[in-house]
Amino acid sequence: MRVLTLIKQREKTDIFGMPIIGFLFKNKYMLTFYRLFTLFLLIYAIIYGFINPTKENIFTNAVFWSIFWPFFMVISLPTLGNVFCMVCPHGFLGKHITKIGLKKRPPRVLMNPYIGLIGSNILAYWFIIYTFPGFLKQPLFTAGFFLFFTLLSMFFFFLFRDMAYCKYICPIGSVNTAFSRTSFTWLSTYQEECKNCKKPDCALACPYKLNPSKFEEKKSMFNCTLCMECAHACEAVRFDVKRWGYSLYERIKNPRVIEVMVYVLLVAVITFTMRFHHGLSRSSLSEYMPWVIVGKFLQSSFNLPRFVDMTGLVAMLMALFLVLSIVYLSFKAIAKIVGQNFWSVFTMLGYAFAPLMIVGGLSHVLEFFFIEYYHNIVNGFSQAFGLGIKVEPLARRGEAWLYIFRIFPFVAGFWSLHILWKRVQMLTSEKRTLTFALASLLPVVYLMLSLFTLIAILFFPAHHHHHH
Ligand code: SF4
Ligand code: SF4
Repeated sequence: MRVLTLIKQREKTDIFGMPIIGFLFKNKYMLTFYRLFTLFLLIYAIIYGFINPTKENIFTNAVFWSIFWPFFMVISLPTLGNVFCMVCPHGFLGKHITKIGLKKRPPRVLMNPYIGLIGSNILAYWFIIYTFPGFLKQPLFTAGFFLFFTLLSMFFFFLFRDMAYCKYICPIGSVNTAFSRTSFTWLSTYQEECKNCKKPDCALACPYKLNPSKFEEKKSMFNCTLCMECAHACEAVRFDVKRWGYSLYERIKNPRVIEVMVYVLLVAVITFTMRFHHGLSRSSLSEYMPWVIVGKFLQSSFNLPRFVDMTGLVAMLMALFLVLSIVYLSFKAIAKIVGQNFWSVFTMLGYAFAPLMIVGGLSHVLEFFFIEYYHNIVNGFSQAFGLGIKVEPLARRGEAWLYIFRIFPFVAGFWSLHILWKRVQMLTSEKRTLTFALASLLPVVYLMLSLFTLIAILFFPAHHHHHH
């Protein structure tokens, strides 16, 4: 432990040195308080879901789909960073369970973050959302879904050491660490102090076996969950306000394919699919959309029941095919032009796609705050705690002023192009314009799709809205 007067000399940008905010992010008791609170909400919402399994129950869905999903998964990541993991009830319990657990080394097959990304996130969540859209709206199913992941995490934390569940299995872990790069916060250490450090207390304290004194040099925070154990172990740990998306403008040492894969796959599965399925399918142009045509055809030829939505599934598969083809073909061409291998082009330029899904996603979430989340949260808590309050939605779907939030996909697209331009400079010193033009294909298609969806909804509205 470096005993210094750093507390007084912290740099202006260091959140730990700021009055009040520093306390809110670093104080042990505050952190424990948030974690106990989220743990309580998790348990109460699950139990409440089993006791009140019908649609009457608004509380369970409010906790998961109006607070956890929009606030933590979409709003906090591109701003504060990975603060969800900071307060995550699973990680909180896990840190205690793993201490009394078996501390086994996870088998090789499990040490694979694609399990979390493809298995738990895309298949266990998005596939279900699109194919069986009614399921996760049922309080009982929602409660069961979160109970399953709670038990699964406890089992893994008990069995394996170094928080293996967070690193490899959690549907949120890998996604959060990748997307938190778009935020304006950055954890690292005062390098002058670390130079003479004999015993790296920060690294020894980290339950994830990370070394925060290397984060700055590597331009990567790896699987950091902002649990702040390192900051309690050594005063040299700092948590800075940086420019938005700071590390995306830097040369990332040992870049990881998985991180860029998160951006690419989720842009397909979330952004593109949503635009296809919820945006364009809701305009009167929907009958011309290929996923609607193919989806309806499959639906009727296999005589599928109504709770299966082939249109959603086909939209997702088409989005995946489109996005993966664009990325593959453009990066393959670039690799040839600059004479480098595909994966080094992929990781050098692919970081520029970080804003696409997460920043673009703000439009949906902010719009839905007014249409849906606000009254669900207030009425849901009122229901669960007997407060006797009842509020109406702040806005109705289709109100004109809500269109201001449609700005975010455009912000995301242009921001991505800006980062891309900087990263092209790092990749090559010749043929930069051509490289940039090729690599821009994904953000440009994204921008065109956003524009097209906006036009379709504005000028070709559906005759009636059905809710997702
Ligand atoms: S990785 Fe998953 S389980 Fe671990 S702290 Fe983050 S959200 Fe929680
Ligand atoms: S580096 Fe620090 S904040 Fe990040 S996970 Fe490790 S101990 Fe927690």
